[in-house]
This record gives sequence, structure tokens and C-alpha cells, in this order.
Amino acid sequence: MNIINAAAYARYSSDNQREESLSAQLNAIKDYCQKKGYILTNVYTDEAKTATNDHRKGFQQMITDSELKLFNVVVVHKFDRFARNRYDSASYKRKLKINKVRLESVLEQLDDSPESVILESVLEGMAEYYSKNLAREVRKGLLENAKAGIHNGGRTPYGLKVNPITRKYEIDETRYKAVQMYFNGVAAGIPLAEIARRINAEGFRTYTGDKFKVTSFDTWANNRKYKGDYAWDVATKKDAEGKRNSHAKKPIEEQTIIPGVIPAIIPTELWERVNALMKERQRTGGSMTAKETYLLSGKITCGSCGANYFGEGYNSRGRHYAYYKCSGKCGNNGVDKYKLEKMISEMLEKTCFSEEGMEEIKDNVKKLYADRKKNIDSEIAPIKNEIRKLELKIDNWLELIGEGTPDKRLFAQKVSEANERKTLLESQLTKMNVIASSQTIDEAILIKVLKAKKDQLLSSNEEDRKQVFKEYVDKVVINTVNDQTIIELCVRCFNGGGEGICTPVSKSCHKSVYACILYFKFRQS
Ligand SMILES: [Zn+2]
Repeated sequence: MNIINAAAYARYSSDNQREESLSAQLNAIKDYCQKKGYILTNVYTDEAKTATNDHRKGFQQMITDSELKLFNVVVVHKFDRFARNRYDSASYKRKLKINKVRLESVLEQLDDSPESVILESVLEGMAEYYSKNLAREVRKGLLENAKAGIHNGGRTPYGLKVNPITRKYEIDETRYKAVQMYFNGVAAGIPLAEIARRINAEGFRTYTGDKFKVTSFDTWANNRKYKGDYAWDVATKKDAEGKRNSHAKKPIEEQTIIPGVIPAIIPTELWERVNALMKERQRTGGSMTAKETYLLSGKITCGSCGANYFGEGYNSRGRHYAYYKCSGKCGNNGVDKYKLEKMISEMLEKTCFSEEGMEEIKDNVKKLYADRKKNIDSEIAPIKNEIRKLELKIDNWLELIGEGTPDKRLFAQKVSEANERKTLLESQLTKMNVIASSQTIDEAILIKVLKAKKDQLLSSNEEDRKQVFKEYVDKVVINTVNDQTIIELCVRCFNGGGEGICTPVSKSCHKSVYACILYFKFRQS
């Protein structure tokens, strides 16, 4: 087995109160190295009084030492510790790469450089593609489980439990009566708050040990497991933040439902009645207020004061207006939301998602993919390990909560944090498995994935479009020159792209960071 030597680099500036201390960063790095089996050989630190007075002697020493092959990996707590900005970061990373030293972060699996973001995005698309088209055996296995009433992972509904040996669902004798009280209550027209009060009065508590509230029942009326049916494969695809929306479900005709394999808590007739009642209530309750989606939120900075732009809409004389405005109140021009988004969408179409653009992305992703494949096995093992450990911890904490520990709030918080971390790790694992399972990337699939991404850009679903903006727009800077609004757009792209329709004033292409910068005049009217 190869011995991997690691260097730790930590940086702290005392004017930023929210940073982890040097020793906290170093401890996290030590743990990380131990987990991955690295030998920590060198430690470099920088402590700055202010961020501007930042000579970073330790950092420079580390870069110099990397030439001497003293270590194979540099580990930081977070990637933002490594360099002060992305362009700085790209050039130092190249130096490390030349010296055959790689950079890893304790908290993030991949850095946020444009090339990584795009590789991640493509891998995600491929993982989805494989899970739909190729991983039939896995799905078949899950389906077999469902048919036998065996737990497939995921949260167990309140009132049911999973037998640790058979993995089958069973009725939770200590809790199922609360579920019956809810269904009977709704059917009898009792308000939800009153139902919650009665359930609490009987001494029932939620899984986290809290009293029931109206919102505790959100998914109950929809849960087919209560009438004994195993509804499998019900989750919708992930939202813009990459999280699954646990409340949004596929339409019933797309779900796989296996009736009667779970012991029923609620008779079918009662379940159907309550389900219909709650649907009706949701349909009529509350008027839908249209929520504006700002596709560029977090991407725009002000060219004159450096603050972020934010989205703001208002109604006037029966019309709706929406703008991006400088949060620094420096007086720099605001820009019309719809016009700017339309322009940038068209720019993306002409650069990243042109035929040549997609070819370029394909070629570069292939290279990045081959690079990552070299280390993939050593990356997968620690992730699997951490997931297993998290699962054990979660079980332990839930048990403590169930036993009524006085620190139940603390433990409930720990459980939810651990679950979040677990979800993140699992999604990384899926992507890594894509890399590990195939020798080379399948070009045809890759192009399909990119075309699907283009369709997503052109779709009418705002959340879908926002996701594409999030991945492919690096940054937008708004400048005012001679009363003209000049937009500086940096797209994550591997080629220079076309001239665009927005009169580029000048164009420079930073091949080194695979980001293309286009300048164009913005016509307000
Ligand atoms: Zn400003």
C-alpha cells in the first residue's frame, strides 16, 4: 500500500469573528488525515491581524515545500482557507498540480472551481441517467423488498417500526393509537389543533420527543403505509438546492404500489375518506401567492462598491416590476430582472450550450473524469465508513431521545445535523459510484446529459432554470460607464463562445480557469 504524506494548512484572520480558530481547524484536519490513513508530516499556519495585511508566510513556505516532494496532499479545513479568491486559488492549485500534490478539504469533497462545478453537474446528470436506465438490478432488488414489505431505507412513518432482524414493517404498539386518533378526528371534522391537543393529552410525543403540533401531521393523510400499502418510488426529483422535497411526491400513476404487505393501522375506507378531505382542504385553503424566482440571486456583484445585488419586485398601477439592485446603496444602476435573465439565458445558449460549447465541455469533462477515476477507490471507502458511523450514532441518539433523556433537544439537533450530513455523503457516493463502475465515460450519454441541461435552461420551470444558472453562471458584475450599464458576465464554459447578441464591448477568455468573460452593454429600455 502506498504511504500518503499530508501537509496541513490553516489560516485565521482575527478580524473575522466567525472563523474557526487555528487549533480547531488543525484538529479537524488531524481527524480527517487519520480517517483517510494519511500521515501528517508538515503543518503550516498563518495568522493575520487583518485580512488586508496578509503576507501568508506559512502559505508561501507550503508552496515552496511542495516542490521538494515532502508531501502528496495538502489538507485544509475549507477551500476558502487556501486562497483569498478563485483566481489566486487557480494559479496556486496549478503550482501544486505541477508538483503532483493534490488539495483536499475536510468539509467539502470538491472545490468550487468552475471545472469542478461542471464536472459535478454532469456526474449528477449521469447518476440520474444510470439510476433510470442502467441500474435496473438495484431497482429490481428494491422492488422485491417492497413486495415482501421489507424496509428500503428512509424514514419510518410514526406508528410503524422496522423489525431489526427481518427488516419488515411492524405496528409500533406504543404509538399507533395516535395515528388512529388523527384519522378518526379528521373524519369527524375535528380541527387539527384540537386533534393535536387530544393526542398530546394521551401522552404521545413525536419521534423527537416533542408535543404534536398541527404541522406534525403534514404527511400522515397521504401515507399509504397506514392502510397497509407499500408505496415505493414515490419521491420526485431533487430541487434546485439538490435536496429532495420530502413532501412533493410523484403522481400516483407513476408510483409503484404494493397493496396489503404492511400491517394496516387504518382501514382502507377511512384512509380514503381522510385523504380526500385533506386534499380538499389544501386545495381551498389559502390563496396561492406567486413567488418570484430570482435566477441570478447570489451571482451579481456591484462593479462600483463591490456589494451584492439583490432581487426586488413590486406592483404599480396593476403591473408587476422586478429589479436587481445594489445592496450597498451606492447609487449604481439597478437592472430589469426579466431582461437581464433573458439576455444571460441567451448567452448561455450561445456559449456553453452551442454545439461546439457542448463538445468542448464533453472533452474537458472526459479529462477531469479520468483524473478523478485514479483516486476514486480511496475516496469511496472513507465515505462509506462515515455513513455507517453516522447511522450508528443516529440510532443511539434516537434511543436516548426515546428513553426521555433531559437533553432531548440537543440530541434532536444532533440527529438532524447527522441526517443532513448523511444525505450529502450519499449523494456524493452515488456520483463516485458512477465513476468507479465504468471504465471510461460514455460520450453518447454525456452529450444526452448536456442536452437535457440545455432543455432545462429553456424550460418554463423557474426552479429548473435557476439550477442551470447556478451551475453555469460564474458571476455577473454590473458597471456603469458614461451612464451606460455594462454587464460583465463570466460563464463556466470551456470555449470562447460566440459573439452573442448583446454587443460585446470586449471579450477576454481565461482559459486557465475555464471561465469565459463577456462584456456587453445592457439596454434598459
Ligand atoms: Zn454598489
